[in-house]
This record gives sequence, structure tokens and C-alpha cells, in this order.
Amino acid sequence: MPQGKLIVISGPSGAGKTSICNKLLELLPNARWSVSATTRPIRNGEADGESYEFISRDEFLRRKQNGEFLETAEYLGELYGTPLAPIREAVEHGEHIILEIEVQGGKQVAEKMPESIRVFILPPTMETLKARLAGRKTESQQQQAKRLAEADGEIGFARDNRCYDHFVTNDELDSTVAEITRIIDQQ
Ligand code: 5GP
Repeated sequence: MPQGKLIVISGPSGAGKTSICNKLLELLPNARWSVSATTRPIRNGEADGESYEFISRDEFLRRKQNGEFLETAEYLGELYGTPLAPIREAVEHGEHIILEIEVQGGKQVAEKMPESIRVFILPPTMETLKARLAGRKTESQQQQAKRLAEADGEIGFARDNRCYDHFVTNDELDSTVAEITRIIDQQ
């Protein structure tokens, strides 16, 4: 049975990670999405158990204490974590698993699973990032500003910590996805 690959996609909010991951799931046979747990409030249009499992801070800390996460991180005051069990299951079944996570988590995965494929998505310009964040209308203006302020730090962190082997600029979705598919095939 071919070995399942652990694929990490990171990048600042608004860089296009979710669209990229959705396309990858369509294109890659045998790939599944890792559903993270988070303490952040559910957004309009989200369903519990689909994009995330939405849990309380107490429950998150209990699971963390219990060793149930591969990695965890705090982003703008909320906790996010990747459950370990589905990753073990995917690898056992020879399936690829896609993690859309931020950079502190990417660093932990690089340390714990160096064989993982880690890709950092860059926006073509900071102006594009700002426009994309505004265009998706999922956050208030204040939240958008916080996410934008976070972006420089995330890009710097990814470069300084050398936890990503690949940096891909998301100019146009299809060519970005094609480039990432090539990276996955080669590794
Ligand atoms: P959002 O609130 O926009 O859904 O996610 C905020 C940030 O947290 C994004 O960069 C997203 O990729 C990241 N994120 C989502 N789930 C996880 C996770 O399980 N672990 C880590 N480290 N980051 C996550």
C-alpha cells in the first residue's frame, strides 16, 4: 500500500489556504482533511464538525493535557489544535491528510514529523492580502486589521524558523494548486 503523506499548508489569513486545500482535496485521490479543534466562536456558514470542532477552553485544555493533539497554538487569543487520532488512522490506511494550520503549529509538526510536506502560501502583495480579507466578509473590520497585522510576523516566523521547505506565491489558484501537487508528487 502506498504511504500516506502528511501535508501542511500554512500562510497568513487571506492568502487563500482554504481554497487551495479544497482544490487539493478534489484533485488528490485518497486525501482527507484534518478537522481541527478550536475555541474560537463559530462563524456564519460554518458547521460544527466540518471546518472545525468548536469546543470550550476547558475542554481544549483537558484534551491537550491528555495528549490528544499533534500540535496546538494560540492565534489572536483563541486556541487551535490538530487531533492526533485521525492522523494515525490516515497514515495506517495509506491516505494523505491535509492540515491547514498557522506557523507555530507548522513548527511543531516539522519537529515531530520531519517527513511531512510543509508548504507556506504567500500573497502576491500585502495589498492583495488586505483586499482578500475585506472581500470575504467573514470578519469585522477590527478583526481584519488584527489578522493583517499578524501577517508580517507569520511570514517572518516561517522564514526564520526554517520549518517550511516550500514557499508558494498564490497569484492564481489553479497554478498554485498545480505547483503544490507537483511538490507532493515529488516528495
Ligand atoms: P481561522 O480562525 O481563520 O479559521 O484560523 C486562524 C488561523 O489558525 C489560520 O491561520 C488557520 O490556518 C490556523 N489554524 C486552524 N486550525 C489550526 C490548528 O489545528 N492548529 C494550528 N496551529 N493552527 C490552526
